[in-house]
Amino acid sequence: MRSWFEYECIDCGKRQPPEKRFYVCPECGGLLEIELDLQYISERLDREALERKPLNVWRYRQFLPIVDESKIVTLQEGGTPLYRCRRLEEKLGIAEFYVKYEGANPTGSFKDRGMTVGVTKALEFGVKTVACASTGNTSASLAAYAAKAGLKCLVILPSGKVALGKLAQAAIHGARIVAVKGNFDRALSLVRQICEKRGDIYLLNSLNPFRPQGQKTIGFEIADQLGWGVPDRLVVPMGNCANIWAIYKGFFELKEVGMIENIPRMVGIQAEGAKPIVDAVRKGIDKFIPVENPETIATAIRIGNPVNGSKAIRAIKRSGGTAESVTDEEIIEAQRELARSEGIGVEPASAAAIAGIKKLIERGEVDRDEKVVCVATGNVLKDPEEAVRVSESPLETEPEEVLKVVG
Ligand SMILES: *Cc1c(COP(=O)(O)O)cnc(C)c1O
Ligand SMILES: [Zn+2]
Repeated sequence: MRSWFEYECIDCGKRQPPEKRFYVCPECGGLLEIELDLQYISERLDREALERKPLNVWRYRQFLPIVDESKIVTLQEGGTPLYRCRRLEEKLGIAEFYVKYEGANPTGSFKDRGMTVGVTKALEFGVKTVACASTGNTSASLAAYAAKAGLKCLVILPSGKVALGKLAQAAIHGARIVAVKGNFDRALSLVRQICEKRGDIYLLNSLNPFRPQGQKTIGFEIADQLGWGVPDRLVVPMGNCANIWAIYKGFFELKEVGMIENIPRMVGIQAEGAKPIVDAVRKGIDKFIPVENPETIATAIRIGNPVNGSKAIRAIKRSGGTAESVTDEEIIEAQRELARSEGIGVEPASAAAIAGIKKLIERGEVDRDEKVVCVATGNVLKDPEEAVRVSESPLETEPEEVLKVVG
């Protein structure tokens, strides 16, 4: 390697120098990955110095592929709580159950971990504008980090399909928002075309190979919070599938440098109406068939043609994991249960992970003595309309009657 990190194509294996901007392999069009020189990192790794730094994404600076530290754009993302959920342990009948609450990030989702690295790269590359297509959280996060960095931000959204909280965030942070007819997959292909034509715009979509480099710190933090241990299973909802791959990669890197001993089984959850990866994994095939018109209440994973689907299949296979799908009813039930028995408020996509593991435990596919961590990807306030809809309505009453109705 000419540098301590490089692009590598996951299909043809060709490497590219990191100073250049690539989204896909220039040789074959395959997905790109950032590969670190783990030997180099391992030789320089100072664990005591690492542990003296605050728990957040940049605690793991030595694993993050940026060159110029003066350009780091941060809102102090990461360092999210890992909650032990005793009531759920009892209800689910499992030994140890934890929730990694990514809703506690600056803009309320794990996307911030990717954007701190991605927007720092945008400054290193010297662009003036960043862009994405989004089901909501990517745009909310990118808009905030672009604001912090002093960059312009362009977001393409599927018209009428973005949850209110997410739209509010992109708007208040000053992004230029373009709503287009059709679903997310359509919005993504449009923003890709724009960025191909306009060299001055940096694309920070799910295709961007630097974002998962920030997201892998979810795996780092979980191991760190468990005293450099790992759970038996790591459960995560899958949309475009960058996150499951990123977390897997995080554990993989830690194992390679000798900080942990095993990689947890990666379990990916999708919604019934958008489950191309679950179908492929369950059939044991490496190629997935895109879903034409994805539908689910969980808008963050309403994705028919996941950009990083093949990476997800790989992460699941290599870790001995599995995949499962859940209905909207199961998602809502899990969302309410987590909120009411543990005090953790999540958006529907995150609840899908809880619903999925519940199903696998009930079916006996997960042993009851396991230690399980579920990644709760986004905050309940992202989709306030849904939360109100699935909860009991307020009791309307005259002021004089209040005592009678409180029960
Ligand atoms: C983006 C997102 C997901 C899906 O993550 P992928 O990397 O696209 O698989 C799940 N939940 C929430 C809340 C998200 O914002
Ligand atoms: Zn290639």
